[in-house]
Amino acid sequence: MESSSTSPFTLLHRSGECRARCGIVTTPHGQIKTPVFMPVGTQATVKAVTPEELEQLGAQIILGNTYHLFIRPGRELIKQFGGLHSFMNWQKPILTDSGGFQIFSLKKLAKITEEGAAFQSHLDGSKLFLSPEDVVAVETDLGSDIMMVLDTCIPWPASREETENATALTARWARRSKDVKPETGQLLFGIVQGGMYPELRKQAAQELIDIGFDGYALGGLSVGEPKELMYEMTEATVQHLPESHPVYLMGVGTPEDLVESVFRGVDMFDCVMPTRNARNGMLFTSRGRLVIKNSIFKNDQRPPDEKCGCYTCRNYSRAYLRHLFMCREILAYQLNSIHNLHYYCSLMAGMRNAIEEDSFLSFRDTFYAMRDQSSE
Ligand SMILES: [Zn+2]
Repeated sequence: MESSSTSPFTLLHRSGECRARCGIVTTPHGQIKTPVFMPVGTQATVKAVTPEELEQLGAQIILGNTYHLFIRPGRELIKQFGGLHSFMNWQKPILTDSGGFQIFSLKKLAKITEEGAAFQSHLDGSKLFLSPEDVVAVETDLGSDIMMVLDTCIPWPASREETENATALTARWARRSKDVKPETGQLLFGIVQGGMYPELRKQAAQELIDIGFDGYALGGLSVGEPKELMYEMTEATVQHLPESHPVYLMGVGTPEDLVESVFRGVDMFDCVMPTRNARNGMLFTSRGRLVIKNSIFKNDQRPPDEKCGCYTCRNYSRAYLRHLFMCREILAYQLNSIHNLHYYCSLMAGMRNAIEEDSFLSFRDTFYAMRDQSSE
C-alpha cells in the first residue's frame, strides 16, 4: 500500500478535517491540479465547445472514448494525424476511457469471454473484437495521457456470485493490460470493481495495487444505486487505495456528488452531465438548478448565475438564453455548455483553494447553504 517512486501524483496538501486533498498529476502533456473535473469529449470533441473556450473556462484535461474513436474515425486515421491531440487541436492532457462501459451497454450485441469483448458496431452492425491488449494498443495510437484498462461492467443490483466473477475477470484483464503498457510515458490506470460489496472492493483494490498502476479508478458506481450506497462504496474503496496515487471516480456526477466525493478523498471526476444538461436547457448555478425554458425567465434580465464570471453570464440574460433555447438555436447549446462547464471547473477550483486553506468543511457548508435558497 505504500508509495511507489514512480507515481505521477504529488500531494500538495491534505485536509486536516477530512480525507479531501489537493495535488498534481503529471502527464506527458502537462500537469493537472487536483481535485479536477474532466469534461467529456467522447467523439474527439466536447460537444458545442471549442478547445480555446475549454481552456478559457479552466478545463485542464478532457476525456475521449476509445470505443467510439475505434469505430469512427478509426485508430489508423487518428494515428496518421499524430494522435488525438493534433487531430482535435487540444494540447493539454487527454484521458481515454476504455469503452468497456459502452461495449457492455450494447448488451445483446456484445459477448464477453476470457479473451475479451466481441461486439457489433452500433453504427453498421459489423463484427468487432477488443481484448484488453487491443484497448491499450488503440489508446497508445490515440496518444492519450491517461489510458484506462478494459474492465467489465457490473449492473446494479447484481448477485455476489456475478459480482465476484466480473471483478475477477477485470483483475485478470488488468494484469494483461499492464503487461503491454508501452514505454511512451503514457499513464495507465486500473479500475476497481467489486459492485456494492465492500469486501470485494477491498480485494479488487489490493489485486490492482499488486499489479501496480499509475492511478486507480472506481468503476461500477453511479449505475442506478442510491446516493448513500454510492458514497458508502466510495469510502469503502478509497480507504484501501495508496495515498501516493491519484484516485478517479468514473462517471460521477452532480455538483453535490463532487463535493461529497472530494470530502471522501477522490481526486478526479468525469461526467456528461454539465454538457448534456446544457443541451437540454438545464443550467447549474451556485443556488441550484435552473430550467431555462420556464416561462418565469421570459423577461428576466439577470444572467443565469449572478455569482458566475463565465462568458455567458457576463454577456447574456436568462431571457435571451430562454429565447435561443425555445427557438432551438445552435447558440443556445454553446452558451449553456460554456456556463455549465465553467460552473463545474470553478467548483473544483473553489474546492482546491478550500483544501489548501484547510477550510473544506466550511466550503461544503456554504455550498449547501447557498443551494437551499431559491434560484429564482
Ligand atoms: Zn456562467
